[in-house]
Amino acid sequence: MNQQFLDELKAVTGEERLKEREPMSRHTTFRVGGEADVFVSPEYETLADVIRLCRQYEEPYYIIGNGSNLLVGDKGIRGVVIGMTRTAPRIEVSDNRVRAGAGMLLSTTAACAAEHGLSGMEFAAGIPGSVGGAVVMNAGAYGGEMKDIIEKVTVLDEEGRRAELTPRDLDFGYRRSGIAERRLLVTEAVFLLSHGEREAIRGEMHRLMQERTLKQPLEYPSAGSTFKRPPGFFAGKLIMDAGLRGYRVGGAQVSEKHCGFVINREDATADDVRRLMQEVAQKVEEMSGVRLEPEVKMIGEF
Ligand SMILES: Cc1cc2nc3c(=O)[nH]c(=O)nc-3n(C[C@H](O)[C@H](O)[C@H](O)COP(=O)(O)OP(=O)(O)OC[C@H]3O[C@@H](n4cnc5c(N)ncnc54)[C@H](O)[C@@H]3O)c2cc1C
Repeated sequence: MNQQFLDELKAVTGEERLKEREPMSRHTTFRVGGEADVFVSPEYETLADVIRLCRQYEEPYYIIGNGSNLLVGDKGIRGVVIGMTRTAPRIEVSDNRVRAGAGMLLSTTAACAAEHGLSGMEFAAGIPGSVGGAVVMNAGAYGGEMKDIIEKVTVLDEEGRRAELTPRDLDFGYRRSGIAERRLLVTEAVFLLSHGEREAIRGEMHRLMQERTLKQPLEYPSAGSTFKRPPGFFAGKLIMDAGLRGYRVGGAQVSEKHCGFVINREDATADDVRRLMQEVAQKVEEMSGVRLEPEVKMIGEF
């Protein structure tokens, strides 16, 4: 990679916030993935300059939050990965609004809302993503979705220009938004919640967390539900009915506890996970005629 680019990037982010040949297995909940050429963890104030520099030197960049919905290829990622979760904590509560930086964990943000007696984020407390990743994915659980509580989102475009967008601008759908297609970087979101009783809100979060622990294989690395829920079906049930409970490719396995999860059972490679996903999708389609679409985003070189 161009040394002048690297020097300028370091000058913008600070040397300690830039790593070369960084294993992405350290930044994904699947714990797999090869090296990113460059991994930077900039502060909010320098994000626009990082983007502009990448554009100026024509280096591709990819934004990641907590890496909890990603499968990174074993050959890694060419260009620059911008990691958001090492940003300084940024959260502010005012009346029934919570303004949170994109790098904040959803769990911390939901806990802060509960602390202030604000209801509406209970569903999100157990989703292991960042605020930015959850907005981009329109993450959801137990009947709630991010789009229901978002008032506005602050983004940077590819030129590093700042804009404030409302849900109407963001083209939300099931586990998707138009943010990635438009190459926007989320820096902040404001959630509009309702006043409630603190202990009741905490109790509900606790109950939902217990349900997760009971049903999901949280003891193994994964990226959550591997496939989207096909209309009218449950992916986990289709996979179980296809006889694939516990099915393995290399170190990757269809969870025995919840067939909707592919887990890294034992030193899986990204290729193991990808091949397992392909085989599962093929078998399910043969058995039920339903085509499973990955929810997990595959990035980098396989
Ligand atoms: C055990 C487990 C349980 C899960 N349960 C759920 C669940 O109940 N419901 C659910 O919806 N999901 C669930 N997930 C999946 C995952 O947690 C969510 O999709 C989450 O929203 C991803 O957030 P992240 O910060 O990890 O994003 P990443 O995985 O890092 O990135 C996801 C996408 O968002 C983009 N992105 C991330 N941050 C930014 C930013 N600041 N600006 C622009 N783009 C950005 C990335 O480029 C990528 O396209 C689960 C995952 C695990 C491991």
